[in-house]
Amino acid sequence: MPTTKLTRPTVPFSEAAWITGLPSSIFTEESHYRLREWARKWCDDVLMPAAAKYEEAGIITDNDAYSQAAKDGVLLVFALGVRVPQKFADMAKAQGIELPAGIKPSEWNNIHDYIIWDEFNRCASSAAVMGLVGGLTYGAGPIIHFASEEQRQKWLPDIFAGKKRICLAITEPLAGSNVANLSTSAVKSDCGKYYIVNGNKKWITNGIYSDYFTTAVRTSGKAGDAHGISMLLIPRGEGVTTKHMKMMGGGGSGTTLVEFDDVKVPVENLIGKEGEGLRLVFYNFNHERMTIAFTALRYARVCLEDSIAHARRREVFGQKLIEQPVVRHKIGHMAREVEALQAWVESVVYSQLHLSTEQSNLLTGGTCGLLKAHAGIVLEHVCRDAVHLLGGMGLTKGGTGDRIERIWRELKALTVPGGSEDVLLDLGVRQQLKLVKPQGAKM
Ligand SMILES: Cc1cc2nc3c(=O)[nH]c(=O)nc-3n(C[C@H](O)[C@H](O)[C@H](O)COP(=O)(O)OP(=O)(O)OC[C@H]3O[C@@H](n4cnc5c(N)ncnc54)[C@H](O)[C@@H]3O)c2cc1C
Repeated sequence: MPTTKLTRPTVPFSEAAWITGLPSSIFTEESHYRLREWARKWCDDVLMPAAAKYEEAGIITDNDAYSQAAKDGVLLVFALGVRVPQKFADMAKAQGIELPAGIKPSEWNNIHDYIIWDEFNRCASSAAVMGLVGGLTYGAGPIIHFASEEQRQKWLPDIFAGKKRICLAITEPLAGSNVANLSTSAVKSDCGKYYIVNGNKKWITNGIYSDYFTTAVRTSGKAGDAHGISMLLIPRGEGVTTKHMKMMGGGGSGTTLVEFDDVKVPVENLIGKEGEGLRLVFYNFNHERMTIAFTALRYARVCLEDSIAHARRREVFGQKLIEQPVVRHKIGHMAREVEALQAWVESVVYSQLHLSTEQSNLLTGGTCGLLKAHAGIVLEHVCRDAVHLLGGMGLTKGGTGDRIERIWRELKALTVPGGSEDVLLDLGVRQQLKLVKPQGAKM
């Protein structure tokens, strides 16, 4: 365990226990503490100013944060997620890019992934964080795990260097929770050199900013047939149109309607084999759900932090709000939900540290679904109370309630994508039922 000094934050519950220096069974490496400090500074220096600009405009207005993220290895680690295999680190190093905070590729794991998501989300801006890494995190996964070496060499260096942006295009107007229902068609041309792609993708994070679309397409069968789905990397070009969607949450990150109209895609852009597209999509679901739970957890903590700070300043009926037992009671309920969520997140992160992705998908898939659903529910409770505690300021853009007002608008963009709450509560139970012995079986 690295020696860390106990620190006293200015606001109670504003930090997870390990950050205040309390002993932890998970955050045991010096690199965890180094990355946390680095990511906090990066959030303060790059993301907070970016959030102010992008949230005001409702869209990303410049390339400043993205270029900085490329230089500082942020794009690299978000594209790779929970491990940094040496071959990908070498690919990035050839362009002068190393991991953040001087972490070695062999050291990086899902604990570092949690730390960087947690710290970056202190800015409470989906435009800044998801605008930067939403498409990349989910869109690069199939290339990292399933593309051929030739495809990786062709696409990844530019993605790590921020020269090309990527997103994941699965959902369609008639295929959301039920992915197998998708109908965007990819038909081989007579010459056999191309797929001709036609169809629409809806709510695609970062779509308007992207050069590459990691796209689930139908190469055979009808809507509903899970076996006829394949994965194609579609470059922006003739026949690809993107339109920014107006959203209650997630708009600033570039939520997009993507239209493919007779798009000619070289057959070399098929990722994996024809017909195994859904397997590739599902492979990354656990990680996607964990990152959404990390975001909801930090957002909930931000709500708690900003409401306690306000309650200690604001005087109503001749005393500070925090002196009212009813206010402390409300804060007590918020805090118990946030701390319990923190403990569950840390425990799943720890389990996954010791499992391969395949084992993790099998053994923690149901838990991840439940955790993601739970994190959204906690955030809704905590944010609701935070808005009340701030009174009018909780509804006001800018000033004391800035982050809380934003989180209130954004929180459904955490509970619907990545598996809607009802779908995941059901999935979580079904998955756990599969893992136990049939009832009545002998021990
Ligand atoms: C901000 C945002 C960003 C997104 N980013 C992306 C992206 O980058 N790429 C991408 O491909 N997609 C993206 N999506 C799409 C997202 O994955 C879908 O919205 C989601 O899967 C739900 O699909 P749907 O909207 O079609 O809802 P539907 O599938 O129509 O479901 C509507 C509701 O019905 C209920 N329901 C559905 N099925 C069941 C069931 N089996 N059991 C119980 N209840 C059920 C649930 O309450 C659900 O919320 C994004 C969406 C949003 C809002």
